[in-house]
Amino acid sequence: MAGCDFFHQQIMAITPMMQQYLDVRRELPANTLLLFRLGDFYELFDEDARIGSQILGLTLTQRNGQPMAGLPYHAADAYIQRILAAGRKVAVCDQMEPPRPGKIVKRALTRILSPGTTLEDHQVDARKNHYLLALDFAKDNGFHAAWLDLTTGDYAVAGEGRADQLLSVFTALDPREVIVPEQAWARWRALDAHDSGHKALLNFCNDRPLSTLADYQFAREEGLQRVLETLKVLSVEGFGLTRMHPALGAAGALIHYATESLCAPPGNLRTLREYRPGGVLLLDPATLRNLEIFRGANGSREGSLLAAMDGTVTAPGARLLERWLAAPPLELVELKRRQCAVGELLEAPGMTGELQEYLKCVRDLPRILGRLRNRLKNPRELGGLRDTLQQIPLIRQILAQYDGDSVRGVASRLSEQPELCDLLERGLADDLPNELVEGGFIRDTYDAELDHLRSLTRDSKSWITSLEAEEQKRTGIKNLKIRYTGAFGYYIEITKSNLHLVPDDYIRKQTVVNAERYYTTSLKEKEKEILHADEKSIARETELFEALSTAVLDKADSLEATAAALAEIDVLAGWTRLAREWDYCKPELDEGDVLEIESGRHPVVEQTLRRERHGLAGTRSFVPNDTLLSASDEQVAIITGPNMAGKSTYIRQVALIALMAQTGCWVPAKRCHIGLVDRVFSRVGASDELARGNSTFMVEMNETANILNNATPRSLIILDEIGRGTSTYDGLAIAWAVVEYLHGSEERGPRTLFATHYHELTQIDRQCARVRNYSVAVKEWNDEIIFVRQVKKGAADRSYGIQVARLAGLPVSVINRAKEVLEKLEADDSSHNLLRRRLKTIRNAEANGKETGQMALF
Ligand code: ADP
Repeated sequence: MAGCDFFHQQIMAITPMMQQYLDVRRELPANTLLLFRLGDFYELFDEDARIGSQILGLTLTQRNGQPMAGLPYHAADAYIQRILAAGRKVAVCDQMEPPRPGKIVKRALTRILSPGTTLEDHQVDARKNHYLLALDFAKDNGFHAAWLDLTTGDYAVAGEGRADQLLSVFTALDPREVIVPEQAWARWRALDAHDSGHKALLNFCNDRPLSTLADYQFAREEGLQRVLETLKVLSVEGFGLTRMHPALGAAGALIHYATESLCAPPGNLRTLREYRPGGVLLLDPATLRNLEIFRGANGSREGSLLAAMDGTVTAPGARLLERWLAAPPLELVELKRRQCAVGELLEAPGMTGELQEYLKCVRDLPRILGRLRNRLKNPRELGGLRDTLQQIPLIRQILAQYDGDSVRGVASRLSEQPELCDLLERGLADDLPNELVEGGFIRDTYDAELDHLRSLTRDSKSWITSLEAEEQKRTGIKNLKIRYTGAFGYYIEITKSNLHLVPDDYIRKQTVVNAERYYTTSLKEKEKEILHADEKSIARETELFEALSTAVLDKADSLEATAAALAEIDVLAGWTRLAREWDYCKPELDEGDVLEIESGRHPVVEQTLRRERHGLAGTRSFVPNDTLLSASDEQVAIITGPNMAGKSTYIRQVALIALMAQTGCWVPAKRCHIGLVDRVFSRVGASDELARGNSTFMVEMNETANILNNATPRSLIILDEIGRGTSTYDGLAIAWAVVEYLHGSEERGPRTLFATHYHELTQIDRQCARVRNYSVAVKEWNDEIIFVRQVKKGAADRSYGIQVARLAGLPVSVINRAKEVLEKLEADDSSHNLLRRRLKTIRNAEANGKETGQMALF
């Protein structure tokens, strides 16, 4: 803080600077902290300073009664992230020129950052997409949506879809921030709706930063105008939309919000896609969570399917994989193209390694271009673009050696841009700064005028160095120093103990704690010369940089296409490596209704087991298992077996393999054949939402209701321990009724895997023709249980609960007593009778068209 004492004094004394501050402050939206650049610090004033000191732990100071708090500008990114995490926005007012002695620095508001609109390199996760979602609420209480990734310009409106489908899409997008129209949102939130869709969307919004805008910012007609102006088109029909599209209001609100944030309209939006939920395999929020698709059990990427499928080496590749997994196409042509590309790459395994080495040198082109198109100028990033362009001929050379059409197809979308690459190589220095203000980013010898200005500055600076030596000699003061600061210019500093040696021609400039500062007339003149040359040289550099930026922007569309192809090559090369390393097979995909897997493995558990095996001798490897399901024949598989046998792992593995196959990836199996799945549903484990006021059983029933209401014969359903959250008989009755319902009376039904510890359920195959029983085998040895992890035909004979409890370390006395109780219960047949009576009641009630209490839950 000591470094900016001078500025603190100036604020109070010099009105123009405070005026600058007040002018900027006045225009800001609510809930925004203003960071005002003063020299090497960003300062906060008044209420902002108080809030900043609380959120960031900054020291609060007072000058003439005005609270202030400062943070070093070099560390600003970390502070900004903390302010955003605290739910506030950050406005940044920057210095637009280097400080000069005796001059007020020009300042301007450059950004207003919110969680969903940051696009600065350090504030966004490189390997994740960064969406801002706008939700608009219709009069009939339905809603419309649009979303935008400002870092890359990915911009979409949701097409017609049911609320539950749209929520699945939003959950997969995982937006950083949601914007809503203030009053419509308040009305919608207060709706006394009991349907689970309303509640789920409310939970979704409550889980992330939410900003409200005035309702008129969501008006459809204005939205259309904003889209037309920003995308520079005459009509939206070219994007396959009509001007009456109900989500155009939300699309316009996104542009308004982005414009406010960037202090200019977003420059990187080129198209507006319509996202149709019907065109992709859908995963509802519960399924995404239960199957750990994007996040593992601990909430991070680790342990997720995404992490297990990720062999990428670039950030854009990782983000593309996330998008592919969020929207697996239901289109065979596209899926086969991706599968075949992996197959072609596998044919020359040696080359994928080399390809990935080149890809590692590729920078984040989509985000570099996004920032450049949004006027965030950064010499180092232009250098990144140059480095990337240098890799492209090498990558093309490698790809040219493959014969297949799929690889050739992607390779043909890479354009080399030799002239642009050459220009950047000649123009940009090797070591590049992040900012323009100080200069030093254009290469020597690139421009004669710049070279001339630089030589003037260099000569003058060496003149100063020799002056320092001369003055030391003349005055006899060994520690005499000539220094420079932006605010004071050049000065000669003499420590207090040498003041008696100061010559007459020194003119006093300033007193500091241990020294006096002086200047001489000749030093002053040289200073003017240097500053003049410096200023001119930076101005020239900036001009040259602008020209280089324009040359890049001229090619931006083609560079973006190249970047998209590079990301795709990265994902495909990563999958190729996975396929080879883990011995994956190419699944056969068609429109049929079969799902057949030979020797399938769980992609995540398999990797974890091998990793553990490295450290632990004797640990087992993953045991593969087969699966056969079909909508019209082997429709429902009931899987029984003791706890810990591997039931959950098995049923999840089937869902994960199907999902992997439908992204185009190869899968962990010996052979695999999948008739396209339209939705995967799962109800796995007891996820506890008590914090939200839902009991475990209620959550379980909500999720089950969602499945029963929305599954189609093309769907795949994974059910684990349905009914566990209530008493045994109720639970079994519900489980029974669910299986009956899924089986239905039609000829086809959703392919279903049902893991259960209710042995009684295995009887249902007598009544439902398309139900099959399986069990996970265990071996008994000396009253001990050994897990073999093999799924075989037929129901399990018993549940081995007591043996498993022993494995868990229950005291021997408890185990022995449990055995006694079990024997007694088994001898007494009455409980079985009770159960039979109960099931009969349900069936009778159904036959009479009446609903039982439990059935009403669906
Ligand atoms: P259940 O659902 O029957 O209680 P889980 O599926 O939770 O059992 O599996 C129990 C443990 O067994 C897990 O830790 C899992 O890693 C391991 N496991 C499951 N299936 C296999 C398999 N096929 N090969 C190796 N280990 C497995």
